[in-house]
Amino acid sequence: MKLRKVSTAVVAAMALALSVSACGGGADKGKDGDKIVVGIKYDQPGLGLKTTDGKFTGFDVDVATYVAKELGYAADKIEFKQTPSAERENALSNGDVKFIVASYSINDKRKAKVDFAGPYFLAHQDLLVRADDTSITKAEDLNAKKLCSVTGSTSAQNVKEKLAPKADLQTLGGYSECLNGLQSKQVDALTTDDSILAGYASQKEHQGKFKLAGLKLSDEKYGIGIKKGDKDLQGKINKALEKMKSDGSWEKAVKANFGPANYKNEAAPEITEK
Ligand code: GLU
Repeated sequence: MKLRKVSTAVVAAMALALSVSACGGGADKGKDGDKIVVGIKYDQPGLGLKTTDGKFTGFDVDVATYVAKELGYAADKIEFKQTPSAERENALSNGDVKFIVASYSINDKRKAKVDFAGPYFLAHQDLLVRADDTSITKAEDLNAKKLCSVTGSTSAQNVKEKLAPKADLQTLGGYSECLNGLQSKQVDALTTDDSILAGYASQKEHQGKFKLAGLKLSDEKYGIGIKKGDKDLQGKINKALEKMKSDGSWEKAVKANFGPANYKNEAAPEITEK
């Protein structure tokens, strides 16, 4: 009888140990102990940039840091992870990151796989060309040109579906790769959000080399990506975003990050994803 009791206790302890290790092993990879894993871009100055000394800067980084703090995670408890455009939905579904703040436009196609909080920013698709190029002034001009954008972005999709279906479009993994191609004349234009393009054009090493066409080709409402169905997190993030706007932190972050690029931002959009 006594022996039987002991063995039951041992079995119970083993089951508990197993369930604890299973939990730590992957049930919620976006939360690593007392840390939170947040997806950002690493190569978009003004939005999400990993500097050569390993620091993270940009508006998306500031929004992510503010939101994480409201969720109970101080800045030193955030682990940033690179989430390129084409990998965002998977990173959320797999639980690799808890949320994504990475120039991530809200649209129905993406909402079939993930959910969003926000939006927290409104940008517009535009073109970046070499400073001395006068042949590209509107979207249709791209039909006879070599154009670069990023795989899995709304920018590439818009070009193919409506803006310039006959353009010779190359899609790469990140916008910084397109920028190299524009500089070396392998492509004639780079298309994505004006917020991203302004950041590139204003970088010290690029000054005087590129210009934005200023076309406002679409509305890109940036949302914070979360796992599909996580209503609780969506509510908490929306609350944090409202607070960021009302206490002046949103405006301050916009000025600090887009000011140097002379980017004329739109007012903060209303939250619609609830
Ligand atoms: N905002 C657009 C998108 O989510 C373009 C920028 C990006 O690729 O992150 O697709």
